[in-house]
Formats: sequence, C-alpha cells, structure tokens
Amino acid sequence: MHWADAFAKSLSGVQRISTGISPSGPIHVGNMREILTGDMIYKAALRRGLEADFIYLCDDMDPLRKVYPFLSSDYEKYVGKPIYRIPSPDGNGSYSEHFLKPFLETLDTINVKVDVIRTSGLYAQGKFADAIRTVIGKKDIVSGILKKVSGRELEKDWSPYQAICSECGSIAKTKMTGFEDPFVLYRCAICQHEGRADIRRDDGKLPWRLEWPAKWKILNVTVEPFGKDHGAAGGSYDTGKAIAQEIFGKTPPAPLLYEWILLKGKGAMHSSTGNVIPAEEFVRFTPPMVLRFLIAKNNPSRHIELDPALGLLNLVDEFEKYLAAYFGTDSVADPDFRDVVWYSSIGREPYSQEVSFRHLVNLIQIYPGGTKLLNALKKSGYSGNTIDSEMKHLIEVARYWLDTYAPESVKFRLMKEDDPVSLDEAGKSILSAFMARMDAIDWTADSIHNTVHDIIKGLGVDPAVGFSAFYKIFIGRDRGPRLGYFLSNLDRSFAARRIAFSLGMAKHVGK
Ligand SMILES: [Zn+2]
Repeated sequence: MHWADAFAKSLSGVQRISTGISPSGPIHVGNMREILTGDMIYKAALRRGLEADFIYLCDDMDPLRKVYPFLSSDYEKYVGKPIYRIPSPDGNGSYSEHFLKPFLETLDTINVKVDVIRTSGLYAQGKFADAIRTVIGKKDIVSGILKKVSGRELEKDWSPYQAICSECGSIAKTKMTGFEDPFVLYRCAICQHEGRADIRRDDGKLPWRLEWPAKWKILNVTVEPFGKDHGAAGGSYDTGKAIAQEIFGKTPPAPLLYEWILLKGKGAMHSSTGNVIPAEEFVRFTPPMVLRFLIAKNNPSRHIELDPALGLLNLVDEFEKYLAAYFGTDSVADPDFRDVVWYSSIGREPYSQEVSFRHLVNLIQIYPGGTKLLNALKKSGYSGNTIDSEMKHLIEVARYWLDTYAPESVKFRLMKEDDPVSLDEAGKSILSAFMARMDAIDWTADSIHNTVHDIIKGLGVDPAVGFSAFYKIFIGRDRGPRLGYFLSNLDRSFAARRIAFSLGMAKHVGK
C-alpha cells in the first residue's frame, strides 16, 4: 500500500491537515517535502471518503535570525525583527511576501490546492488571545512541562510571550514584566523601551514551542507532517504534545515525520546556508509531475538525494518508466506504481509521454526550433500537428536544464555542414565506407548502428576510434549520444553532405 494511503487508513472523522513553513528565505525543494507530504495525505483522506481540508501556515512573524548569504549587509539592522515587517530584498513590499509569492506560484504549477494562512493575520484577528491568556495564567506549569519534556533548563527570565518592541521593532529580546489583561507589559533589552502589547493584536507572539500547539488548538489540526528535527525526543513535537494535552485540552495531531532532501555532494538544504534549490527553480528544469513523483515514490522515512545534473535525467527516466507501467507498456518493481503515478498527477489524467525527456534533450540540441523540430518530434512519436502548450513547456524545461545544470557529457552543438574538421586516415576510411552504404540502408537507429559496426569490424579498427570519427565531424568531440540513435535523428541528406565535406569531397545530395 502506498505510504499516504497507509497513513490515512488510521484516520477517522473530519480531518484538517496542516503544514507550515517560514518564508525566511527562498522556499526550497527540501520544504516541498513538507507541503507535498501534506498534500498527499490530504488526497489520501479524500480518497478514503473522509471530509478533509488542507492548510499551510506561513510563519511570517518569525524574526530574521541573521544576515543570510543571499542578503546584503544592510539587513543587519533588521535582524531580530519579524519578517512580515521588514522590507523585501527587491524593494517591493515585505520580506515574507517576497519569498512566499514564487512558492505559491509553484504550488499552482504542481497542483497543490491549499488554504494559505499567515500567522501574523491570526494574531491580528485576535485568534491567539485565549491561548496567550491561558499560557500566561499557567506560566509556571507551562515552563515546568517544557523543562521536563525537553530536559533543558529555561532562562531565569523566560517569557511565555514575545512582544514586538514598539520602539525599535525587535521581537527577539523583549521580556514580559507583567500582565494586565489584555496587555502584556514588557521591557526591550535592545533599546530599553518599556511598553505594553495587546494580546488581541499582532503586537507579539508566542514562542515557537507554545505557538505550535496553540495553532493545533485554534485551527483544530488533526494531522501534521514535519521534519525530523521537530520529531527528536524532547523536541518541539514532544513538548507541543504535552502542552496541547495538559494546557489546551487538545488531542495533538497525528504526526508524520519526514526525512530531509539532500543535495548531492552538499548535504541538507537550508535557507540559512544558501545550499538550496528554490522550489520555483526546480520546476524550471524539471517537468512538474516529476517533483510530485520524487515525493510520492519515496517513503517519508527515507531521505532523498537530489542531483540536479545527470541524476535529474535518471529521475525523469524513472518517472517515465512508472508512467509506462501505468499505461501497461512497461513494468517496474514497485507494487504501488499505480498510486505513485496517481499522486504525481497535476490535475489532468496521467498522460503517456510520447517523447521521452532524454530524447527531447537531444532533439533540441540538433533542432533549435521551428518546423524542423516539429518534424523530428513527429518522427519520434509526437502526435500533435503543432507544438502544443504542454510540449512547449517541456521544451523550455529541457532547454533550461541544459543551460544551467546539465553535465558536459550530455551537451553538444551540432556542427555546420562546412565547419572545418581534421580527420586521421582511419577516420577517413570509416566515413568513406559509411558514405558508400548510407543511401541504401534504413535511416533508423538500429540499421545505422549495425552498418557502422560492420564497417569498423571489417576495417579492424578500434571501435572507440571508429565511433569518434563520427562524433568529431558532427559535434566536434570524441564522444556523444549513442551513435545510431544520434544519426537517425539527423536529416539523412545533411549527414551525407557533412560527411562529404569532411572528406574533402564536394558531394551534393538531395536539394
Ligand atoms: Zn526595543
């Protein structure tokens, strides 16, 4: 059984699946595991016939923790201030909305329909007021639970509420000094300002370990996926669970822990280190279903290693194999392949990909566009009479991947008919022999391959040397894509003219 269905099997009654990410920097592919895990549980719940909804909490009141590598040093003055109140790096609007916007656009691309709730909005509407009042009233019990469950001491002047200093705007260093309901009295350790914060407004917030269970209570959350850091023994899920039960009288949500997505050779993705691929970037170089596939295929308990270079091509190959299995033209070992494809879907029914991504990557390097590309696509099984919007998108994705992430080994530039080239004697004899036979053979990958193979064998040349003569004249390198396959994608008469030119012969074929 697929992991999302297995999880949903234990659920009963009305469900609210909640996810949360702080837009403190580019929301990245690692964060996508949070939102897509939630989305798949949500869909699994609906599939089981349960009433359910799906929310994403944008933690936009979190303070800026430091000047991240992607920020200018001007941001030093904003450290400690809530990210919804500091300016966007591009000068338009707030910092948090700046990083939220491309993320929401990406969600649309990959068919995630989620209700977005900004934490600042919940505070501004007074939704947290009761929870804040409760934890302040039970401050000692609350701090006792935190100490006991986490095994850590709290600071002597620990505050169950973090006011935003009305003078300097910092939220990081204010301490509660008293409570005159509905006002928290505070002192700011940065500017020494003493003020009061209204708990019915976004004048301040609960610390994370209290805010999380308060959200469960306020929003009646029943399921929540989260990263393994929150799930460690004594971590914020454990303390949240105890606070929810003992302070708020709320059953904690069913947890689903997920492992990290690692960037090959670079480790876990963290906004704070800049070691990330932003979500919107990932869908620029990956077909959108493949991002869903990555999450759908892997059990949340397993880490994922992502390689945007050659690994991406292998990932798309694997995805296409699953699709083919779904349509009954191939098979895969995964018994849940039908569900994996279903969870990978982006709204339309899963489609059969007529032209593989790998093939497309080669074709667009041979034919930059226009009628020639369309004809080559048709020859490869594409059934459209024009390049439709889906194919157009796939071409853009493949081109961006080639320009930005593809390893040199898959990149090539087709030489022109009369680009200069120098060949050794062995190369010349192989190409001459091929030219003599090429008009008579089927212009298919297999027959080209067999012909070249025959010639090389007959001449007693080292195969690697033999093949390299072709690569040299067509792409100016010693190696390239499988030769028969590669040549079959070229126009036969162009291939003939190019070989003739390389041999110093003025041969004109066709046209
Ligand atoms: Zn201050």
